Amino acid sequence: MDDTVLVINCGSSSLKVALFDADMNKLGSGLAERLGNSDAFAGLSGEPERIPLANGASHKDALEALIEAFRQRNLLNAQPAAIGHRVVHGGERFREAARVTDDVIAAIEQCASLAPLHNPVNLAGIDAISDLFPDVPQVVVFDTAFHQTLPEYAYRYALPDRFYQQWGVRRYGFHGTSHSFMATESARRLGKPPESTSIISAHLGNGCSITAIREGASVDTSMGLTPLEGLVMGTRSGDVDPGLFDFLGSKGISADEVHRILNHESGLLGISGQTNDMRSLCELAEQGHRASALAIEVFCFRLARYIGAMMASLAHLDALVFTGGIGENSALVRHKTLSHLSLPGFYVDRDLNQNHGRASDGRIDSGNSRFAILVIPTDEELVIAKAARAKATSEPHH
Ligand code: ADP
Repeated sequence: MDDTVLVINCGSSSLKVALFDADMNKLGSGLAERLGNSDAFAGLSGEPERIPLANGASHKDALEALIEAFRQRNLLNAQPAAIGHRVVHGGERFREAARVTDDVIAAIEQCASLAPLHNPVNLAGIDAISDLFPDVPQVVVFDTAFHQTLPEYAYRYALPDRFYQQWGVRRYGFHGTSHSFMATESARRLGKPPESTSIISAHLGNGCSITAIREGASVDTSMGLTPLEGLVMGTRSGDVDPGLFDFLGSKGISADEVHRILNHESGLLGISGQTNDMRSLCELAEQGHRASALAIEVFCFRLARYIGAMMASLAHLDALVFTGGIGENSALVRHKTLSHLSLPGFYVDRDLNQNHGRASDGRIDSGNSRFAILVIPTDEELVIAKAARAKATSEPHH
């Protein structure tokens, strides 16, 4: 057995893997896309050549091909010491990572009605690994677990009580792995213990969510029962008036179509009519494309509103933190968002922001800002690798 840790993240038609050594340095990572389609392919980061996959390759086929590629490069010699899986929904059962057992698998299956697109495919990854490495301990890390500390008044919807009692209709929150990394990493940078550090963490990637973290614990978050609620995202609408469903129904649009439109045709893509990609939108806006400029404005204003809303959950604030592809790389989005927030006292330094805080340990706030403002690259794979190693060592297999 090696002392490496393998991290696996299965999406509906994609798979990401990363391999870490005993000191938690990343040895390599890879990606497979379009799984189940005729043009499925895989590749290792930093290598232009693609690894060919069979027609209609499955998650397991891709996993085998990527593991073989790690082997050929001598990154993985025997078996990994532990394997960590990202699992989207842990319901109310999982407050932290868990060692995979039959009981845990059954619980993940039970949560699948809350995440029908994600949990089954996460389980497919666990199945594939159980075949490939039957003796290696596996650990599951849930997107929802970090938010299990939300107080009831923050996680309940104002709906008939029976929906919660019978079906678990409540706010769960997602991106927990990234938000928890922001909590510890911003505390480290501010030189404070995590358990006395309070931040607002904005994870802005293709999916976007924002979380209030009070003394290390999640106390409010913008995603809800599903990852559709809250901020404007690449193709997801975020918050809309619930009356919209009725209205669209009256126009002959079916529930299935509404689901598809809100998840796949809305957000930045919907408003701009061009793309869900923020970098491309910024270029289009620069060239004078009005709808693209508007998409950016709506995105930033919604985000600013939510930053304000998150302050209701905190007694003090140590830092506002930006992460994810947009949060880490778009000075424009950070600037526009913060320009709505001078009343509470957020002020950004132009040059530090332009430089993404790289020369200032992440800090981009100006001298007159009431709060620190940070840009911190997220590293969900590292969090999963650490959790996998910790659980695999602390709970030996029976
Ligand atoms: P995912 O949620 O799929 O992991 P990422 O966190 O990589 O996605 O974020 C992807 C988003 O980040 C895209 O909208 C992309 O355009 C945006 N992004 C990446 N780099 C930049 C940049 N330099 N400027 C603006 N947006 C960027």
